[in-house]
Amino acid sequence: MKITAAVAVAPDRPFELISCDLSDDLAPGEVLVRVEACGICHTDLAVKLQHIPVPLPKILGHEGAGVIERVGPGVVGLSEGDSVLMSFGSCGACGQCQLGAPGYCDEFGMINLFGQRRGGSGLRYRGAELGGYFFAQSAFATHAIATARNVVKIGKDLPLALLAPLGCGIQTGAGAVLNVLSPRPGASIAVFGVGAVGMAAIMAAKLTGCSTIVAVDIRDERLVRARDVGATHTVDGRTSDLAKAVAALGSGRGVDHSIDTTGVPEVVAASIACLRQRGSSAQVAAPPRGTRFPVEASVLVGGGLTVRGVVEGDAVPTIFLPRLVDFFRQGRLPLDKIVSFYPFDKINQAVEDMETGAIVKPVLRMN
Ligand SMILES: [Zn+2]
Ligand SMILES: [Zn+2]
Repeated sequence: MKITAAVAVAPDRPFELISCDLSDDLAPGEVLVRVEACGICHTDLAVKLQHIPVPLPKILGHEGAGVIERVGPGVVGLSEGDSVLMSFGSCGACGQCQLGAPGYCDEFGMINLFGQRRGGSGLRYRGAELGGYFFAQSAFATHAIATARNVVKIGKDLPLALLAPLGCGIQTGAGAVLNVLSPRPGASIAVFGVGAVGMAAIMAAKLTGCSTIVAVDIRDERLVRARDVGATHTVDGRTSDLAKAVAALGSGRGVDHSIDTTGVPEVVAASIACLRQRGSSAQVAAPPRGTRFPVEASVLVGGGLTVRGVVEGDAVPTIFLPRLVDFFRQGRLPLDKIVSFYPFDKINQAVEDMETGAIVKPVLRMN
């Protein structure tokens, strides 16, 4: 079938909208989704810029939302016409998948970054195969092939485009808080970097009853918006002794929990140094390969600290996304405060606005 897709051609070239072919030959366990919307996540840009060296040209996009047009052999629980959110893919067979930790699937990189699919990506352009199946979807397109494992059915009354970012960015930030740090009511938490992931972490911290929620960023307008979604304090990320400034807000002895979404080594160090004794930190960014974090041993060991790397919020999407949808229905996940919509053909404008910080979370509408 003919589809329209945005292809990443080279690091220094904008996304190009093309008309290409998508095979409608579904393998067992696969579904064909008519994409209504897709969020743009930093991982899309990291691949386009080749900070993650995945071969180009490739169709990216991994926060797709749409309607199932067809189900492949062996798919149960999903049918034509279902509204779905797409999330990351996993093999379902390895030990981590069987233990309910698909974010750490043995095949995570091959499936999600390299888009390995039996029989190829299914995408063809000018007679040659085009890279796709990114995060088992490649949703910068009007149609996508996904799997029953990485789509999550949601109510038909829900706004698909607004909920699209649940599949990666929101799940990552909210999951780090709800699934990993699990703060007690009244706890203190600091969120370093308040893009979409950090904003989701703040919303989740508010849900758990954290009494002190500190947002750290270098952009004033982001800090204002962070207060709007639940931050109780804000700190300018350029403050000279950042760790000390944040620690002072956690009853003087440091904060109970922290999250770093920046991957910037000095900021990561501050996100650990601001913790109180036996505090815990979640590290969720994916900085370029070879990045090292400077951590003072006496702080880590003497403080009895826990520092945890977290992929996709430690979530099982089919279980976690419906919980986030429930919060959204109750008005407790104010995504409208961080999402900005763009028509599909304005994808490069959306990327630019995201990079300059003019907006928090761009979502492309396909029609
Ligand atoms: Zn697996
Ligand atoms: Zn992502």
